[in-house]
Amino acid sequence: MENRILVVDDEKEIREMLLKALTRLTEFRVELAGDGEEALKKIEQENFDLVLTDLKMPKKDGLQLVSDIAKFKPETLTVLMTGHGTIDSALEAMKQGASDYLLKPLNLDEMIVRLRKVLGERQRFIKLRDFAAQLERANQELKRVDEMKSEFVSVASHELRTPLTTIKNAVQLVLRGKAGEINETQGNFLSMAEKNINRLTNILNSLLDLSRIESGKMEMRFEEFDLTGSITFILSSLKPQADGKSIRLNTEIPMEFPPIYGDREKVEQILMNLTGNAIKFTPEGGEISVSAKLLAGEGGMVAVSVKDSGIGIPEDQLKKVFEKFYQVEGSLHRSVSGTGLGLAITKGLVETHQGKIWVESEVGKGSTFTFTLPVSKGEKREPHFRYVLDLKFRLAQENNTPLTLFLLEVLDQEGNAKESFLDQLEEQVRKSLCRKGDMVLRREREKILAALCEADLKGAQVIRHRIEEEIQKHFMEGRDKPPILKVGAATFPEEALSKRDLFRRAKEKLRS
Ligand code: ADP
Repeated sequence: MENRILVVDDEKEIREMLLKALTRLTEFRVELAGDGEEALKKIEQENFDLVLTDLKMPKKDGLQLVSDIAKFKPETLTVLMTGHGTIDSALEAMKQGASDYLLKPLNLDEMIVRLRKVLGERQRFIKLRDFAAQLERANQELKRVDEMKSEFVSVASHELRTPLTTIKNAVQLVLRGKAGEINETQGNFLSMAEKNINRLTNILNSLLDLSRIESGKMEMRFEEFDLTGSITFILSSLKPQADGKSIRLNTEIPMEFPPIYGDREKVEQILMNLTGNAIKFTPEGGEISVSAKLLAGEGGMVAVSVKDSGIGIPEDQLKKVFEKFYQVEGSLHRSVSGTGLGLAITKGLVETHQGKIWVESEVGKGSTFTFTLPVSKGEKREPHFRYVLDLKFRLAQENNTPLTLFLLEVLDQEGNAKESFLDQLEEQVRKSLCRKGDMVLRREREKILAALCEADLKGAQVIRHRIEEEIQKHFMEGRDKPPILKVGAATFPEEALSKRDLFRRAKEKLRS
């Protein structure tokens, strides 16, 4: 490959000598300049791979030229030629961005070797950079396709649910004899159809749950509740299934157990998935025990374990079982088939409670799945808000996209926040947001709304105007004493670089 070199020296003989020495080799095409200014003009007009420049020259010296090139054409390499007395300047040039320096009087063979070396390094660097750009493009494309896939799964599952309900109702009507008598064979076929409709409905519900968890849109209702009651409820609903395989179900929960802060239905779904799996993967006559204990020094968490005496999971697959659609090889010869979504959903639900889940297992002996949940503390925390903020912040960092957090509240003339204002505010704020991923959440205790939008500072201002207009139009009109809207906003990365700062700044502005 041919390299374009610009030789800059105020001494004509040196320029001519270098031109001759370099053009003898077919890999170099050489241009000449008599001083720094002339060189810079040439560099502005055309691209060179390397500039070989003298240090001392009239008008603009070599050091200045190196520094200008580093600023304006950073891809162009520079090599400085200098005498023994000016080594300091050569080192300074290296600091400014020069790739190498040569001592005068020049040794032409050494010069060629050094020029080839820096040009070769540059070639490797360019290749690597192109490769990184290609990878980045492929990565972006993958992310886009992944989003499309999630969107497709979510839309398809929604669209399939309604016709499926109609089919189910029709099949049940005929099966129950409401549309005329049916014979035994017809009954058997219809029962088979009903069973499969139920299976399909479960699969669709799992897909929808997963897409809600992944997008942070799972609706959560946090409350203080008694975990023992939930465990007893789930075990009694699964008892017929366990009895069918002569599996014993036990519980071990301390008498004085603190209330939990969580979404009761979701916690019961977690227990149902784990205990259901334990029954599925435990042979006849086995044993399952569900235990709970308070963890010391974990900032108020409890750990719940579901232990079975079943087939176990090989060590190399212990982490993989929590991935979507993952099923352990060889575990498929079981009576009830599955989708491999249950544990991915379970993990997502535990994480929406700021908890963790893990499994310990030994093949042939059994598995223990353990998850943690927060204890209620007369509740000050907002686990759902924290979960969504975590998720959106991580996505913004990974995708290099901005994120604005709005905190909003409406006060009456006396300065009190009113619950009834919050519902209307939430509706109006939802109307003002435009992107699909934008979210509105409540911070119940403080009676404020939080909105998370993929917007930079400028975009955030536009959204803020829109919110204020909506509120003006639909909320405050026609009242003698219109309520007061307060807004606090902060934007990542322009105003805050961490999640905590983002929240703190928005809160400060809300209170100012
Ligand atoms: P599935 O619908 O297949 O049960 P899950 O996500 O609930 O999906 O579980 C994923 C896989 O993890 C299962 O297919 C099974 O191989 C393994 N697994 C889950 N729970 C247990 C258990 N208690 N004992 C042994 N293997 C289990």
